[in-house]
Amino acid sequence: MAAGATLYLRGGPSPALTWTHRVMKPCINHHALRIFRRGLVVRRLFGIGAAVWMLVPIVGLADVIVIANRTSTTVEWRVVGGSAPAGQFRLEAGDLATIPASGPLSIAVRDGRRNDAVVTHLDADCCYYFGQTRSGKVQLAKIGLGDGDASDSARGLGANQALGTIRVKLLVDDDEPARRPVWERRLLRRMSAASSILEKFCRLRLNVVSVGTWTTDNATQDFSRTLTEFERTVRTESADVAIGFTSQYDIPRSRMHLGGTRGPLHSHILIREWSQHIPEPQRVELLLHEIGHYLGAVHSPEPASIMRAVLISKRTRNARFPIQYDPVNTLIMYMVGEELRSRKVDRFSALTPATQRRLRQIYRELAKISPRDSSADSYLRMLQAGRAARDRGK
Ligand SMILES: [Zn+2]
Repeated sequence: MAAGATLYLRGGPSPALTWTHRVMKPCINHHALRIFRRGLVVRRLFGIGAAVWMLVPIVGLADVIVIANRTSTTVEWRVVGGSAPAGQFRLEAGDLATIPASGPLSIAVRDGRRNDAVVTHLDADCCYYFGQTRSGKVQLAKIGLGDGDASDSARGLGANQALGTIRVKLLVDDDEPARRPVWERRLLRRMSAASSILEKFCRLRLNVVSVGTWTTDNATQDFSRTLTEFERTVRTESADVAIGFTSQYDIPRSRMHLGGTRGPLHSHILIREWSQHIPEPQRVELLLHEIGHYLGAVHSPEPASIMRAVLISKRTRNARFPIQYDPVNTLIMYMVGEELRSRKVDRFSALTPATQRRLRQIYRELAKISPRDSSADSYLRMLQAGRAARDRGK
């Protein structure tokens, strides 16, 4: 199993469980990181700003622009050029918006202090963030994501207005201690919570098409082997992905794999379930983390992202802590999700060439800034292998 496809739990010496984060190089650049830290302070103000986007018709808009608000204030803008929903838009402090578009856009950002607007050009399939200067002025900056990170033209997908769906076959193993009505209610509620978050970030929903059980070999004590066993035993049938929750062994308070899959659009995801000391919000995060990998997301150096490599901290134990993806993984997942909405795609190399090209640029950049994590590099290699196989077949 690719190491990059797993999420770890790391236990601390204190009796209460603590989650710690693996030290990784900062994303973007130092300036951006400073703004990001300031942004963390206000994350709890996480609002519903991005929900505005869901209300507007987005027919024919297959590209996306992701904007994070890392200031301590609400930011407002309107689209003044390009193909995107018209109107006045608000983004709360700490929140993140996905703007459906077709090619590049121009927006006029309201300067609340001077009551005028600054017009800014935005490239399609790119990420931006609002930061604040020392004097409090709000500025929009681009997150550098590789050569030619500007996408001057639309990806040309036939976009679908409807939300996309990932069909899920949900299973627990024979070691699950609860009665079926109890575990079924618990896991369906978790799927529903994860689905709402996924819908906000990449316009996809989880649809549980079947619920069942499978039997694990009690002699197996290795997570990778349990995943292999799960893949051999369970067929996805009418689902896109089978998600199995195993209670084969307790989750100790030490570093270990909490969940795993073999990469983007892979048919099986396995998650450890039996534990007395993991709160439900972190279980939702764990599920979303593995679904993130399913949609091409890689480990993020941003400590509050669902895609951080190691789940942590007292901070995330706070029920009010927002569960959210970082902007770069949101961009990746949205682009992959847009393809899933338009047709059936069951492997990474079946994405359109334009999407693959953009993903290669992004993964190449992420592999550079997080060299100790292999997820971006292994997904890049998957895309390159698919391209080489296609070229050989020509
Ligand atoms: Zn992971």
